[in-house]
Amino acid sequence: MSETPLNAYSSALYGGRLTVDLDAIAANWSLLRSSLAPGSECAATIKANAYGTGQAETAKRLFKEGCRTFFVAVPTEAIALRQTLPAATIYALDGLFPNTADLLLQHNVRPVLGSLDELKEWAALCRTAGKSFPAAVHVDTGIHRLGLSADEFGTALADPELMGPFKPSLLMSHLACGSDPDHPMNKEQLARFIALTSPFKGVPRSLANSAGVLMGPDYHFDLVRPGISLYGGRAFDHGDNPMRPVAKVEARIMIVRSVPKGDAIGYGATQTAKRPLRNAVVAAGYADGLLRRASSSDDRPGGFGMIGGHKAPILGRISMDMITLDVTDIPEHLVQRGGLVEMLGPNVAAADMAAYAETIDYEYLTSLGRRFERIYGPLG
Ligand SMILES: *Cc1c(COP(=O)(O)O)cnc(C)c1O
Repeated sequence: MSETPLNAYSSALYGGRLTVDLDAIAANWSLLRSSLAPGSECAATIKANAYGTGQAETAKRLFKEGCRTFFVAVPTEAIALRQTLPAATIYALDGLFPNTADLLLQHNVRPVLGSLDELKEWAALCRTAGKSFPAAVHVDTGIHRLGLSADEFGTALADPELMGPFKPSLLMSHLACGSDPDHPMNKEQLARFIALTSPFKGVPRSLANSAGVLMGPDYHFDLVRPGISLYGGRAFDHGDNPMRPVAKVEARIMIVRSVPKGDAIGYGATQTAKRPLRNAVVAAGYADGLLRRASSSDDRPGGFGMIGGHKAPILGRISMDMITLDVTDIPEHLVQRGGLVEMLGPNVAAADMAAYAETIDYEYLTSLGRRFERIYGPLG
């Protein structure tokens, strides 16, 4: 992933601004490392452009904080990350794509081998070279996406003919229901992971994403690999979220206008003014990642923005490049042409906005577009 060209134009020319607080990301990582999982190595999952916050910037800041192991998803992300962090350990969670082993080795990237085919291909490479190239092995404990089945895992790893000199650098699995800590699946996966991996002494193990970290030391093993918690998101569906927000989206007010009672606002005329309204039209929409599902209609409330501590509910549909907000009850001097409205940030949690869009904050954060001005600094 190439870096987003930062601030190519004057601030005044952007429809919106995305501020990312790298110190808050570092503080979240430190909290995970020293308070929440003190007995394990704390890695960082920075796939999908570090959940929208910027892969290179976030990686550099976390490395400075002491993080040494990073997980991304696809090989392109891993190779880009290698340019940023020459000395880090880098895992590609999506594993070994066909005919890419040479490239991964060249860039010192470790695939997370997720199938018997991938494992065989990597082990053969090690046999030919007569040495072990580091790679993780993913075992499926119930999510049925990536990972060797229990049978494949047990037989393959115990077979010296097949494995040759290859020794996994990490054994891992992934929780299906971590966002619900009371779900019985968590304990089942934990038990399967222990049963499957215990015979392989001396190989570090990893099970926990952010939710796994919050579920406590039973789930931590040697290495934890949180993602969403670093970015201030919610690992659990319910209860307190101990993490700091790290991103803020502000959209620019283009015009402030009136809507007579009974008139409709926006595409599809889905929302009618129940009283004379004042509305502000802001220059950000679903093309900037503000999900259209958070639109409002006469039947269903939508999301909102915040202006000077006042809630400004979305009126009608979110369109590609703009959103209309109800500012009728907000003091006029706070709602001025050119001013900024917080659409996501300390006062508008990504998880809350995501709920209006019937999704999760992971999708909200990773969809934040590239059309905003991007600033690194405190959220203010
Ligand atoms: C994305 C991912 C993580 C990080 O998950 P969070 O819920 O964001 O903490 C960890 N492990 C795997 C395999 C993943 O795909």
